[in-house]
Amino acid sequence: MDDFEDLLAANRDYAASFELSGFDGIARAGVAIVTCMDSRIDPLRLIGLTPGDAKIFRNPGGRVTPQALEALVLGVHLLNVDRILVIPHTRCAMASSTEAELRERVGKSAGQDASWQSFHVIEDQRAALAEDIARVRTHPLIPDSVRVGGFLYDVDTGLLDQQL
Ligand SMILES: [Zn+2]
Repeated sequence: MDDFEDLLAANRDYAASFELSGFDGIARAGVAIVTCMDSRIDPLRLIGLTPGDAKIFRNPGGRVTPQALEALVLGVHLLNVDRILVIPHTRCAMASSTEAELRERVGKSAGQDASWQSFHVIEDQRAALAEDIARVRTHPLIPDSVRVGGFLYDVDTGLLDQQL
């Protein structure tokens, strides 16, 4: 039971000065972000936002998957979202490895065959971003009034570069 004790101790400190009590959970700044799970990305701070401001959906590579679209539709219609940022990043493992390489590395770590596991690597990051932006823009439940942008985040400079 003590596997998480360090984190729970930190949580008690966090809760001691908690300020979001009773907040309704909408995106106060009207922003939704789809980005990678990469630990170098701080999605709120990198665009000057704080907790309560944005809906955030993360996965390996920051792809607009069917689950991401579900989140965006909910965000737009129920949670105040009117701007959507899709943010893949430089030096992303999902865009610099092949499916075979990831399967081999995971297989080695797991000590067993991982060839059945899909990782959905990204062969061309810019093309993937264009596809993802098109998925959002053409979704029948995401109206044209919602502004949608595709950006590349540089994990070495902290800068966002708008691509689309
Ligand atoms: Zn990544």
